Amino acid sequence: NQKLADYDASLAVAMAEEVSRQEIHIELIASENYASRAVMEAQGSQLTNKYAEGYPGKRYYGGCEHVDQVEALAIKRACDLFGADYANVQPHSGAQANAAVFMALVSPGDTVLGMSLAHGGHLTHGAAPNFSGKHYNAFQYGLDPQTGEIDYAEMERLAREHKPKLIIAGFSAYSRVVDWRRFRNIADEVGAWLLVDMAHVAGLVAAGLYPSPLPHAHVVTSTTHKTLRGPRGGIILSAYHDESLYKKLNGAVFPGQQGGPLMHVIAAKAVAFREAMSQEFVRYQQQVIDNAQAMAEVFIERGYDVVSGGTDDHLFLVSLIRQGITGKDADAALGRAHITVNKNSVPNDPQSPFVTSGLRIGTPAVTTRGFNALECAELAGWICDILDALATEEGSAGVEAAVRQQVADICSRHPVYAEAAS
Ligand code: PLP
Repeated sequence: NQKLADYDASLAVAMAEEVSRQEIHIELIASENYASRAVMEAQGSQLTNKYAEGYPGKRYYGGCEHVDQVEALAIKRACDLFGADYANVQPHSGAQANAAVFMALVSPGDTVLGMSLAHGGHLTHGAAPNFSGKHYNAFQYGLDPQTGEIDYAEMERLAREHKPKLIIAGFSAYSRVVDWRRFRNIADEVGAWLLVDMAHVAGLVAAGLYPSPLPHAHVVTSTTHKTLRGPRGGIILSAYHDESLYKKLNGAVFPGQQGGPLMHVIAAKAVAFREAMSQEFVRYQQQVIDNAQAMAEVFIERGYDVVSGGTDDHLFLVSLIRQGITGKDADAALGRAHITVNKNSVPNDPQSPFVTSGLRIGTPAVTTRGFNALECAELAGWICDILDALATEEGSAGVEAAVRQQVADICSRHPVYAEAAS
């Protein structure tokens, strides 16, 4: 029972360097966050040792009396937090949650309609290389190139024409409030199930700051590690009050898609759901939105195009088409200044999805470490300084070095885990 550093020095060094990177780099990837110590304690616990195939009270293994309590707590908290009457907390990830819902509701070859990956949807919403695009007859809606908002009329037209059995709403890169009711109305009209994947905004929904899809969707999936700030993992929820549907969903997770649940992760999900019920969490989510809006305003003032003209949530997309800068180059230049973002396709993008002409910027992680709106505005200014320089012949190396210093200063003022450890 040696400590990791004594047993496996090379691995321990790589892990320590990642911890350090998380402290000294500014994290603007919209899907990332810093989980609390309590979440990590649960996730790093002895519950990792337990096999518990099945569900609380109905397991295929002995010795499950305590993990039954853990899973029952997680389920109850998830239901209370989101106003659901059904929760499955076992999916290992968001993709697994979506795969289980597909398995429960549709058969291979059936028609499905989801948001295109290039327009902000997720791989599992019907993208060609994913199971959802390979095994199903997937059609895709997207954004109106003029407004940068979801083209609802086109989505409805596709639904009427192709009569999908499943419509998927939800996104990985969209900064506006989605009209969940409009999705449900068209689903009812064409006889489709509606799945809302709220992975990105689950924390905002939990805090009551983004409209909940629960009253509208038949089934809702989410990850637990983005704005929700829990461990990596997935959940399935519903408020449809349909026991036969819930039985199908449970069967699709286990034994349909998965074997034994990750009980240590389920314990960590239970912690995160509890944290999300606090007033502090509501204040945090409000700050996430305020910070995203403060940053988006700076980009607009500095002459950059923000897709849809702003944000209502935790992220926004910057289009660099007019500046002639690629997302790939911008991502690399910011990375050299210790600012982590991701390149992202934008409407009318002339570049391939690997190169792109945009950046996706999100504020959940910087807000967790305590950045306020003024600091976020300043940070957006540094990013613009680098992008401005990148568009010149001289390049951005000099500006990157100056910004790297500013980043080091602000990160040392806002430690993530370091302070609590000392
Ligand atoms: N759904 C959406 C909307 C996402 O953005 C993501 C992750 O980026 C997923 C599902 C997949 O989650 P995971 O990476 O846990 O499989």
